[in-house]
Amino acid sequence: MKKRKVVALYSGGLDSTLAIKLIQSQGIEVIALHFYTGFCITETKRRRGEKKEDGSHFMNPALKYAAKYGFPLEIIDISEGYFDIIQNPKYGYGSNINPCIDCRAYMYKHAKRYMEEIGADFIISGEVLNQRPMSQHLKAMKIIEKEAGVEGLVVKPLSAKLLPPTIPEIKGWIDREKLENISGRSRKRQIELAKRFGIDEYEQPAGGCCYLTDENFARKYKEVIAVENFITKDELYLLTIGRHFRLPSKTKVIITRNEGEGNFIKGIRKKYWYAEPIGKGAVAIARPIVGETLTEEDKKQIADLIARYSKTDEEGKIEVKIIPPSHLENKYKEDIILGQKLQEEILENWRV
Ligand code: SF4
Repeated sequence: MKKRKVVALYSGGLDSTLAIKLIQSQGIEVIALHFYTGFCITETKRRRGEKKEDGSHFMNPALKYAAKYGFPLEIIDISEGYFDIIQNPKYGYGSNINPCIDCRAYMYKHAKRYMEEIGADFIISGEVLNQRPMSQHLKAMKIIEKEAGVEGLVVKPLSAKLLPPTIPEIKGWIDREKLENISGRSRKRQIELAKRFGIDEYEQPAGGCCYLTDENFARKYKEVIAVENFITKDELYLLTIGRHFRLPSKTKVIITRNEGEGNFIKGIRKKYWYAEPIGKGAVAIARPIVGETLTEEDKKQIADLIARYSKTDEEGKIEVKIIPPSHLENKYKEDIILGQKLQEEILENWRV
């Protein structure tokens, strides 16, 4: 009998690891596939070189656990094109700005393309029926597969016995009887299976891994739309970084929280008005939305914000350099403004 090959959607979480183990235990070759959307919290922080509170580095969970549990992994960047999905999801948003149904369909489309490229027979996923409200109930699963053109080709080993039989089950490529019937949010059965397969370390449930499900991210997104009516791709990605403020003039300011964010902002600073303290502290980028330049008031307010997050003198003062973006260098000059630590009440009024 022909040895079957499958593509496994892989997050690095326990469910997708178990799905792979269940299929591998039937003698099927599995190639794990991980997608980078641009909004995975851990991977975004890892790429920026940010560190955890304990000083350790962030690791991509898919890379880490594919290596640990011994299966090949392919990572595909699908961030190009993902912006449109966030802007105009056909099936709407979950509780924040997570377009989970459209997002899953987009991933399955890419998985199908990859499956065809490598000559695999079908796709598996660690999704569990009724585990998450938006995309993991039967109706949503059917919509997702139809949209992606993969109907009958996706096996969900953890819930397979509760779902209609798929082509690989009907054709006998896999034994449905050896698959699971898990439903809902309890992790009891997964923990039993983890023991059976010797999985002794895994990520906690992946719900917190996506910026789009994050309340703070959604609030910042909605604020930009409310004030400016639209958002560019660059602005959307900038919502993943720093502290955000809206000055009285409506100028948007982002101030860094740590060295990793500082390095990132320094890398893109030439596109924006940029502010840095003469001394130690946070750096900022600013974007006026009326006209191209910052007003004198804006500059003073940005310097005061920087002073709030920098090592100031005893009177709470620090000098701040304000630099125009490179395309305006010939038109505006750099300024040095004396910043004075901002009162908390004003700061909170401006905070997004
Ligand atoms: S949580 Fe994020 S990555 Fe996961 S399906 Fe929803 S939008 Fe996509």
